[in-house]
Amino acid sequence: MDDVVQRALDGGVQMITVGTQTTTSKNGILLAERYEGVWATIGLHPNHVHKQAFFDENELPAEKQPTDEIKTRSETFDESYYRELVAHPKVVAIGEFGLDYYRLPEGQGPEQLIDDQKREAKKQIEFASQFNKPVVIHCRDAHADQFALLKAEIDQGGLTRRGVVHCFTGTAEDAERYASIGFKTSITGIVTFSKELQAVVKDIPLEQIMIETDSPYLTPAPNRGKRNEPLYVKDVAKVIADLKGVSLEEVAERTTETAKGLFLI
Ligand SMILES: [Zn+2]
Repeated sequence: MDDVVQRALDGGVQMITVGTQTTTSKNGILLAERYEGVWATIGLHPNHVHKQAFFDENELPAEKQPTDEIKTRSETFDESYYRELVAHPKVVAIGEFGLDYYRLPEGQGPEQLIDDQKREAKKQIEFASQFNKPVVIHCRDAHADQFALLKAEIDQGGLTRRGVVHCFTGTAEDAERYASIGFKTSITGIVTFSKELQAVVKDIPLEQIMIETDSPYLTPAPNRGKRNEPLYVKDVAKVIADLKGVSLEEVAERTTETAKGLFLI
């Protein structure tokens, strides 16, 4: 891991580690403490609201076998635990949390699962408002409900720091709707191999876009099949530069400015 982090820093890439449950939220902070240019988010991912195991060929490096399932455990957002972490100066946002209707574990009614996800998302939205942090949203196949949750909080004067919808794979209309409440959309390596996402990104203004790798998943071309790492965010930037007809430097500068503005780093 230290090699991966150092390679990114040496290549001019700074990083935000993303918490997905109690352990990774804490570990992200420990890593961020050790490096200048590394920050952390803390939160509970919707896939960790219920215990499940799944295999996703889009997310796992090619050398991994289908037996290498991603296994999750079930947690609820424990406010007292996260309250201790949020005070850390390297914690820049709450997340990733949100709604994931693509991956609902089998054997339970979807209504209950969705209700549970919404309840945990609402807790974290309110937590972010309370501690005046932006949010990093994970949303899959649930943009209408996700938007409604965010908008309801904003209408009540919450989420003043707004946030970003990470690993955005929605439509240009979804992106525009998020923009209307001051949210950014973050693009991963999927844009390097998905014609569909390329078409969507063409329609999203550059000032609305952030970039990320979602390492170790979703390796961008030309390194598909290898484990992803933060340095490869440059490959995401290159494709966006081509789609927008601007230079790589311009994409790098503007997305960095956007990220610094959102996370106050
Ligand atoms: Zn995610």
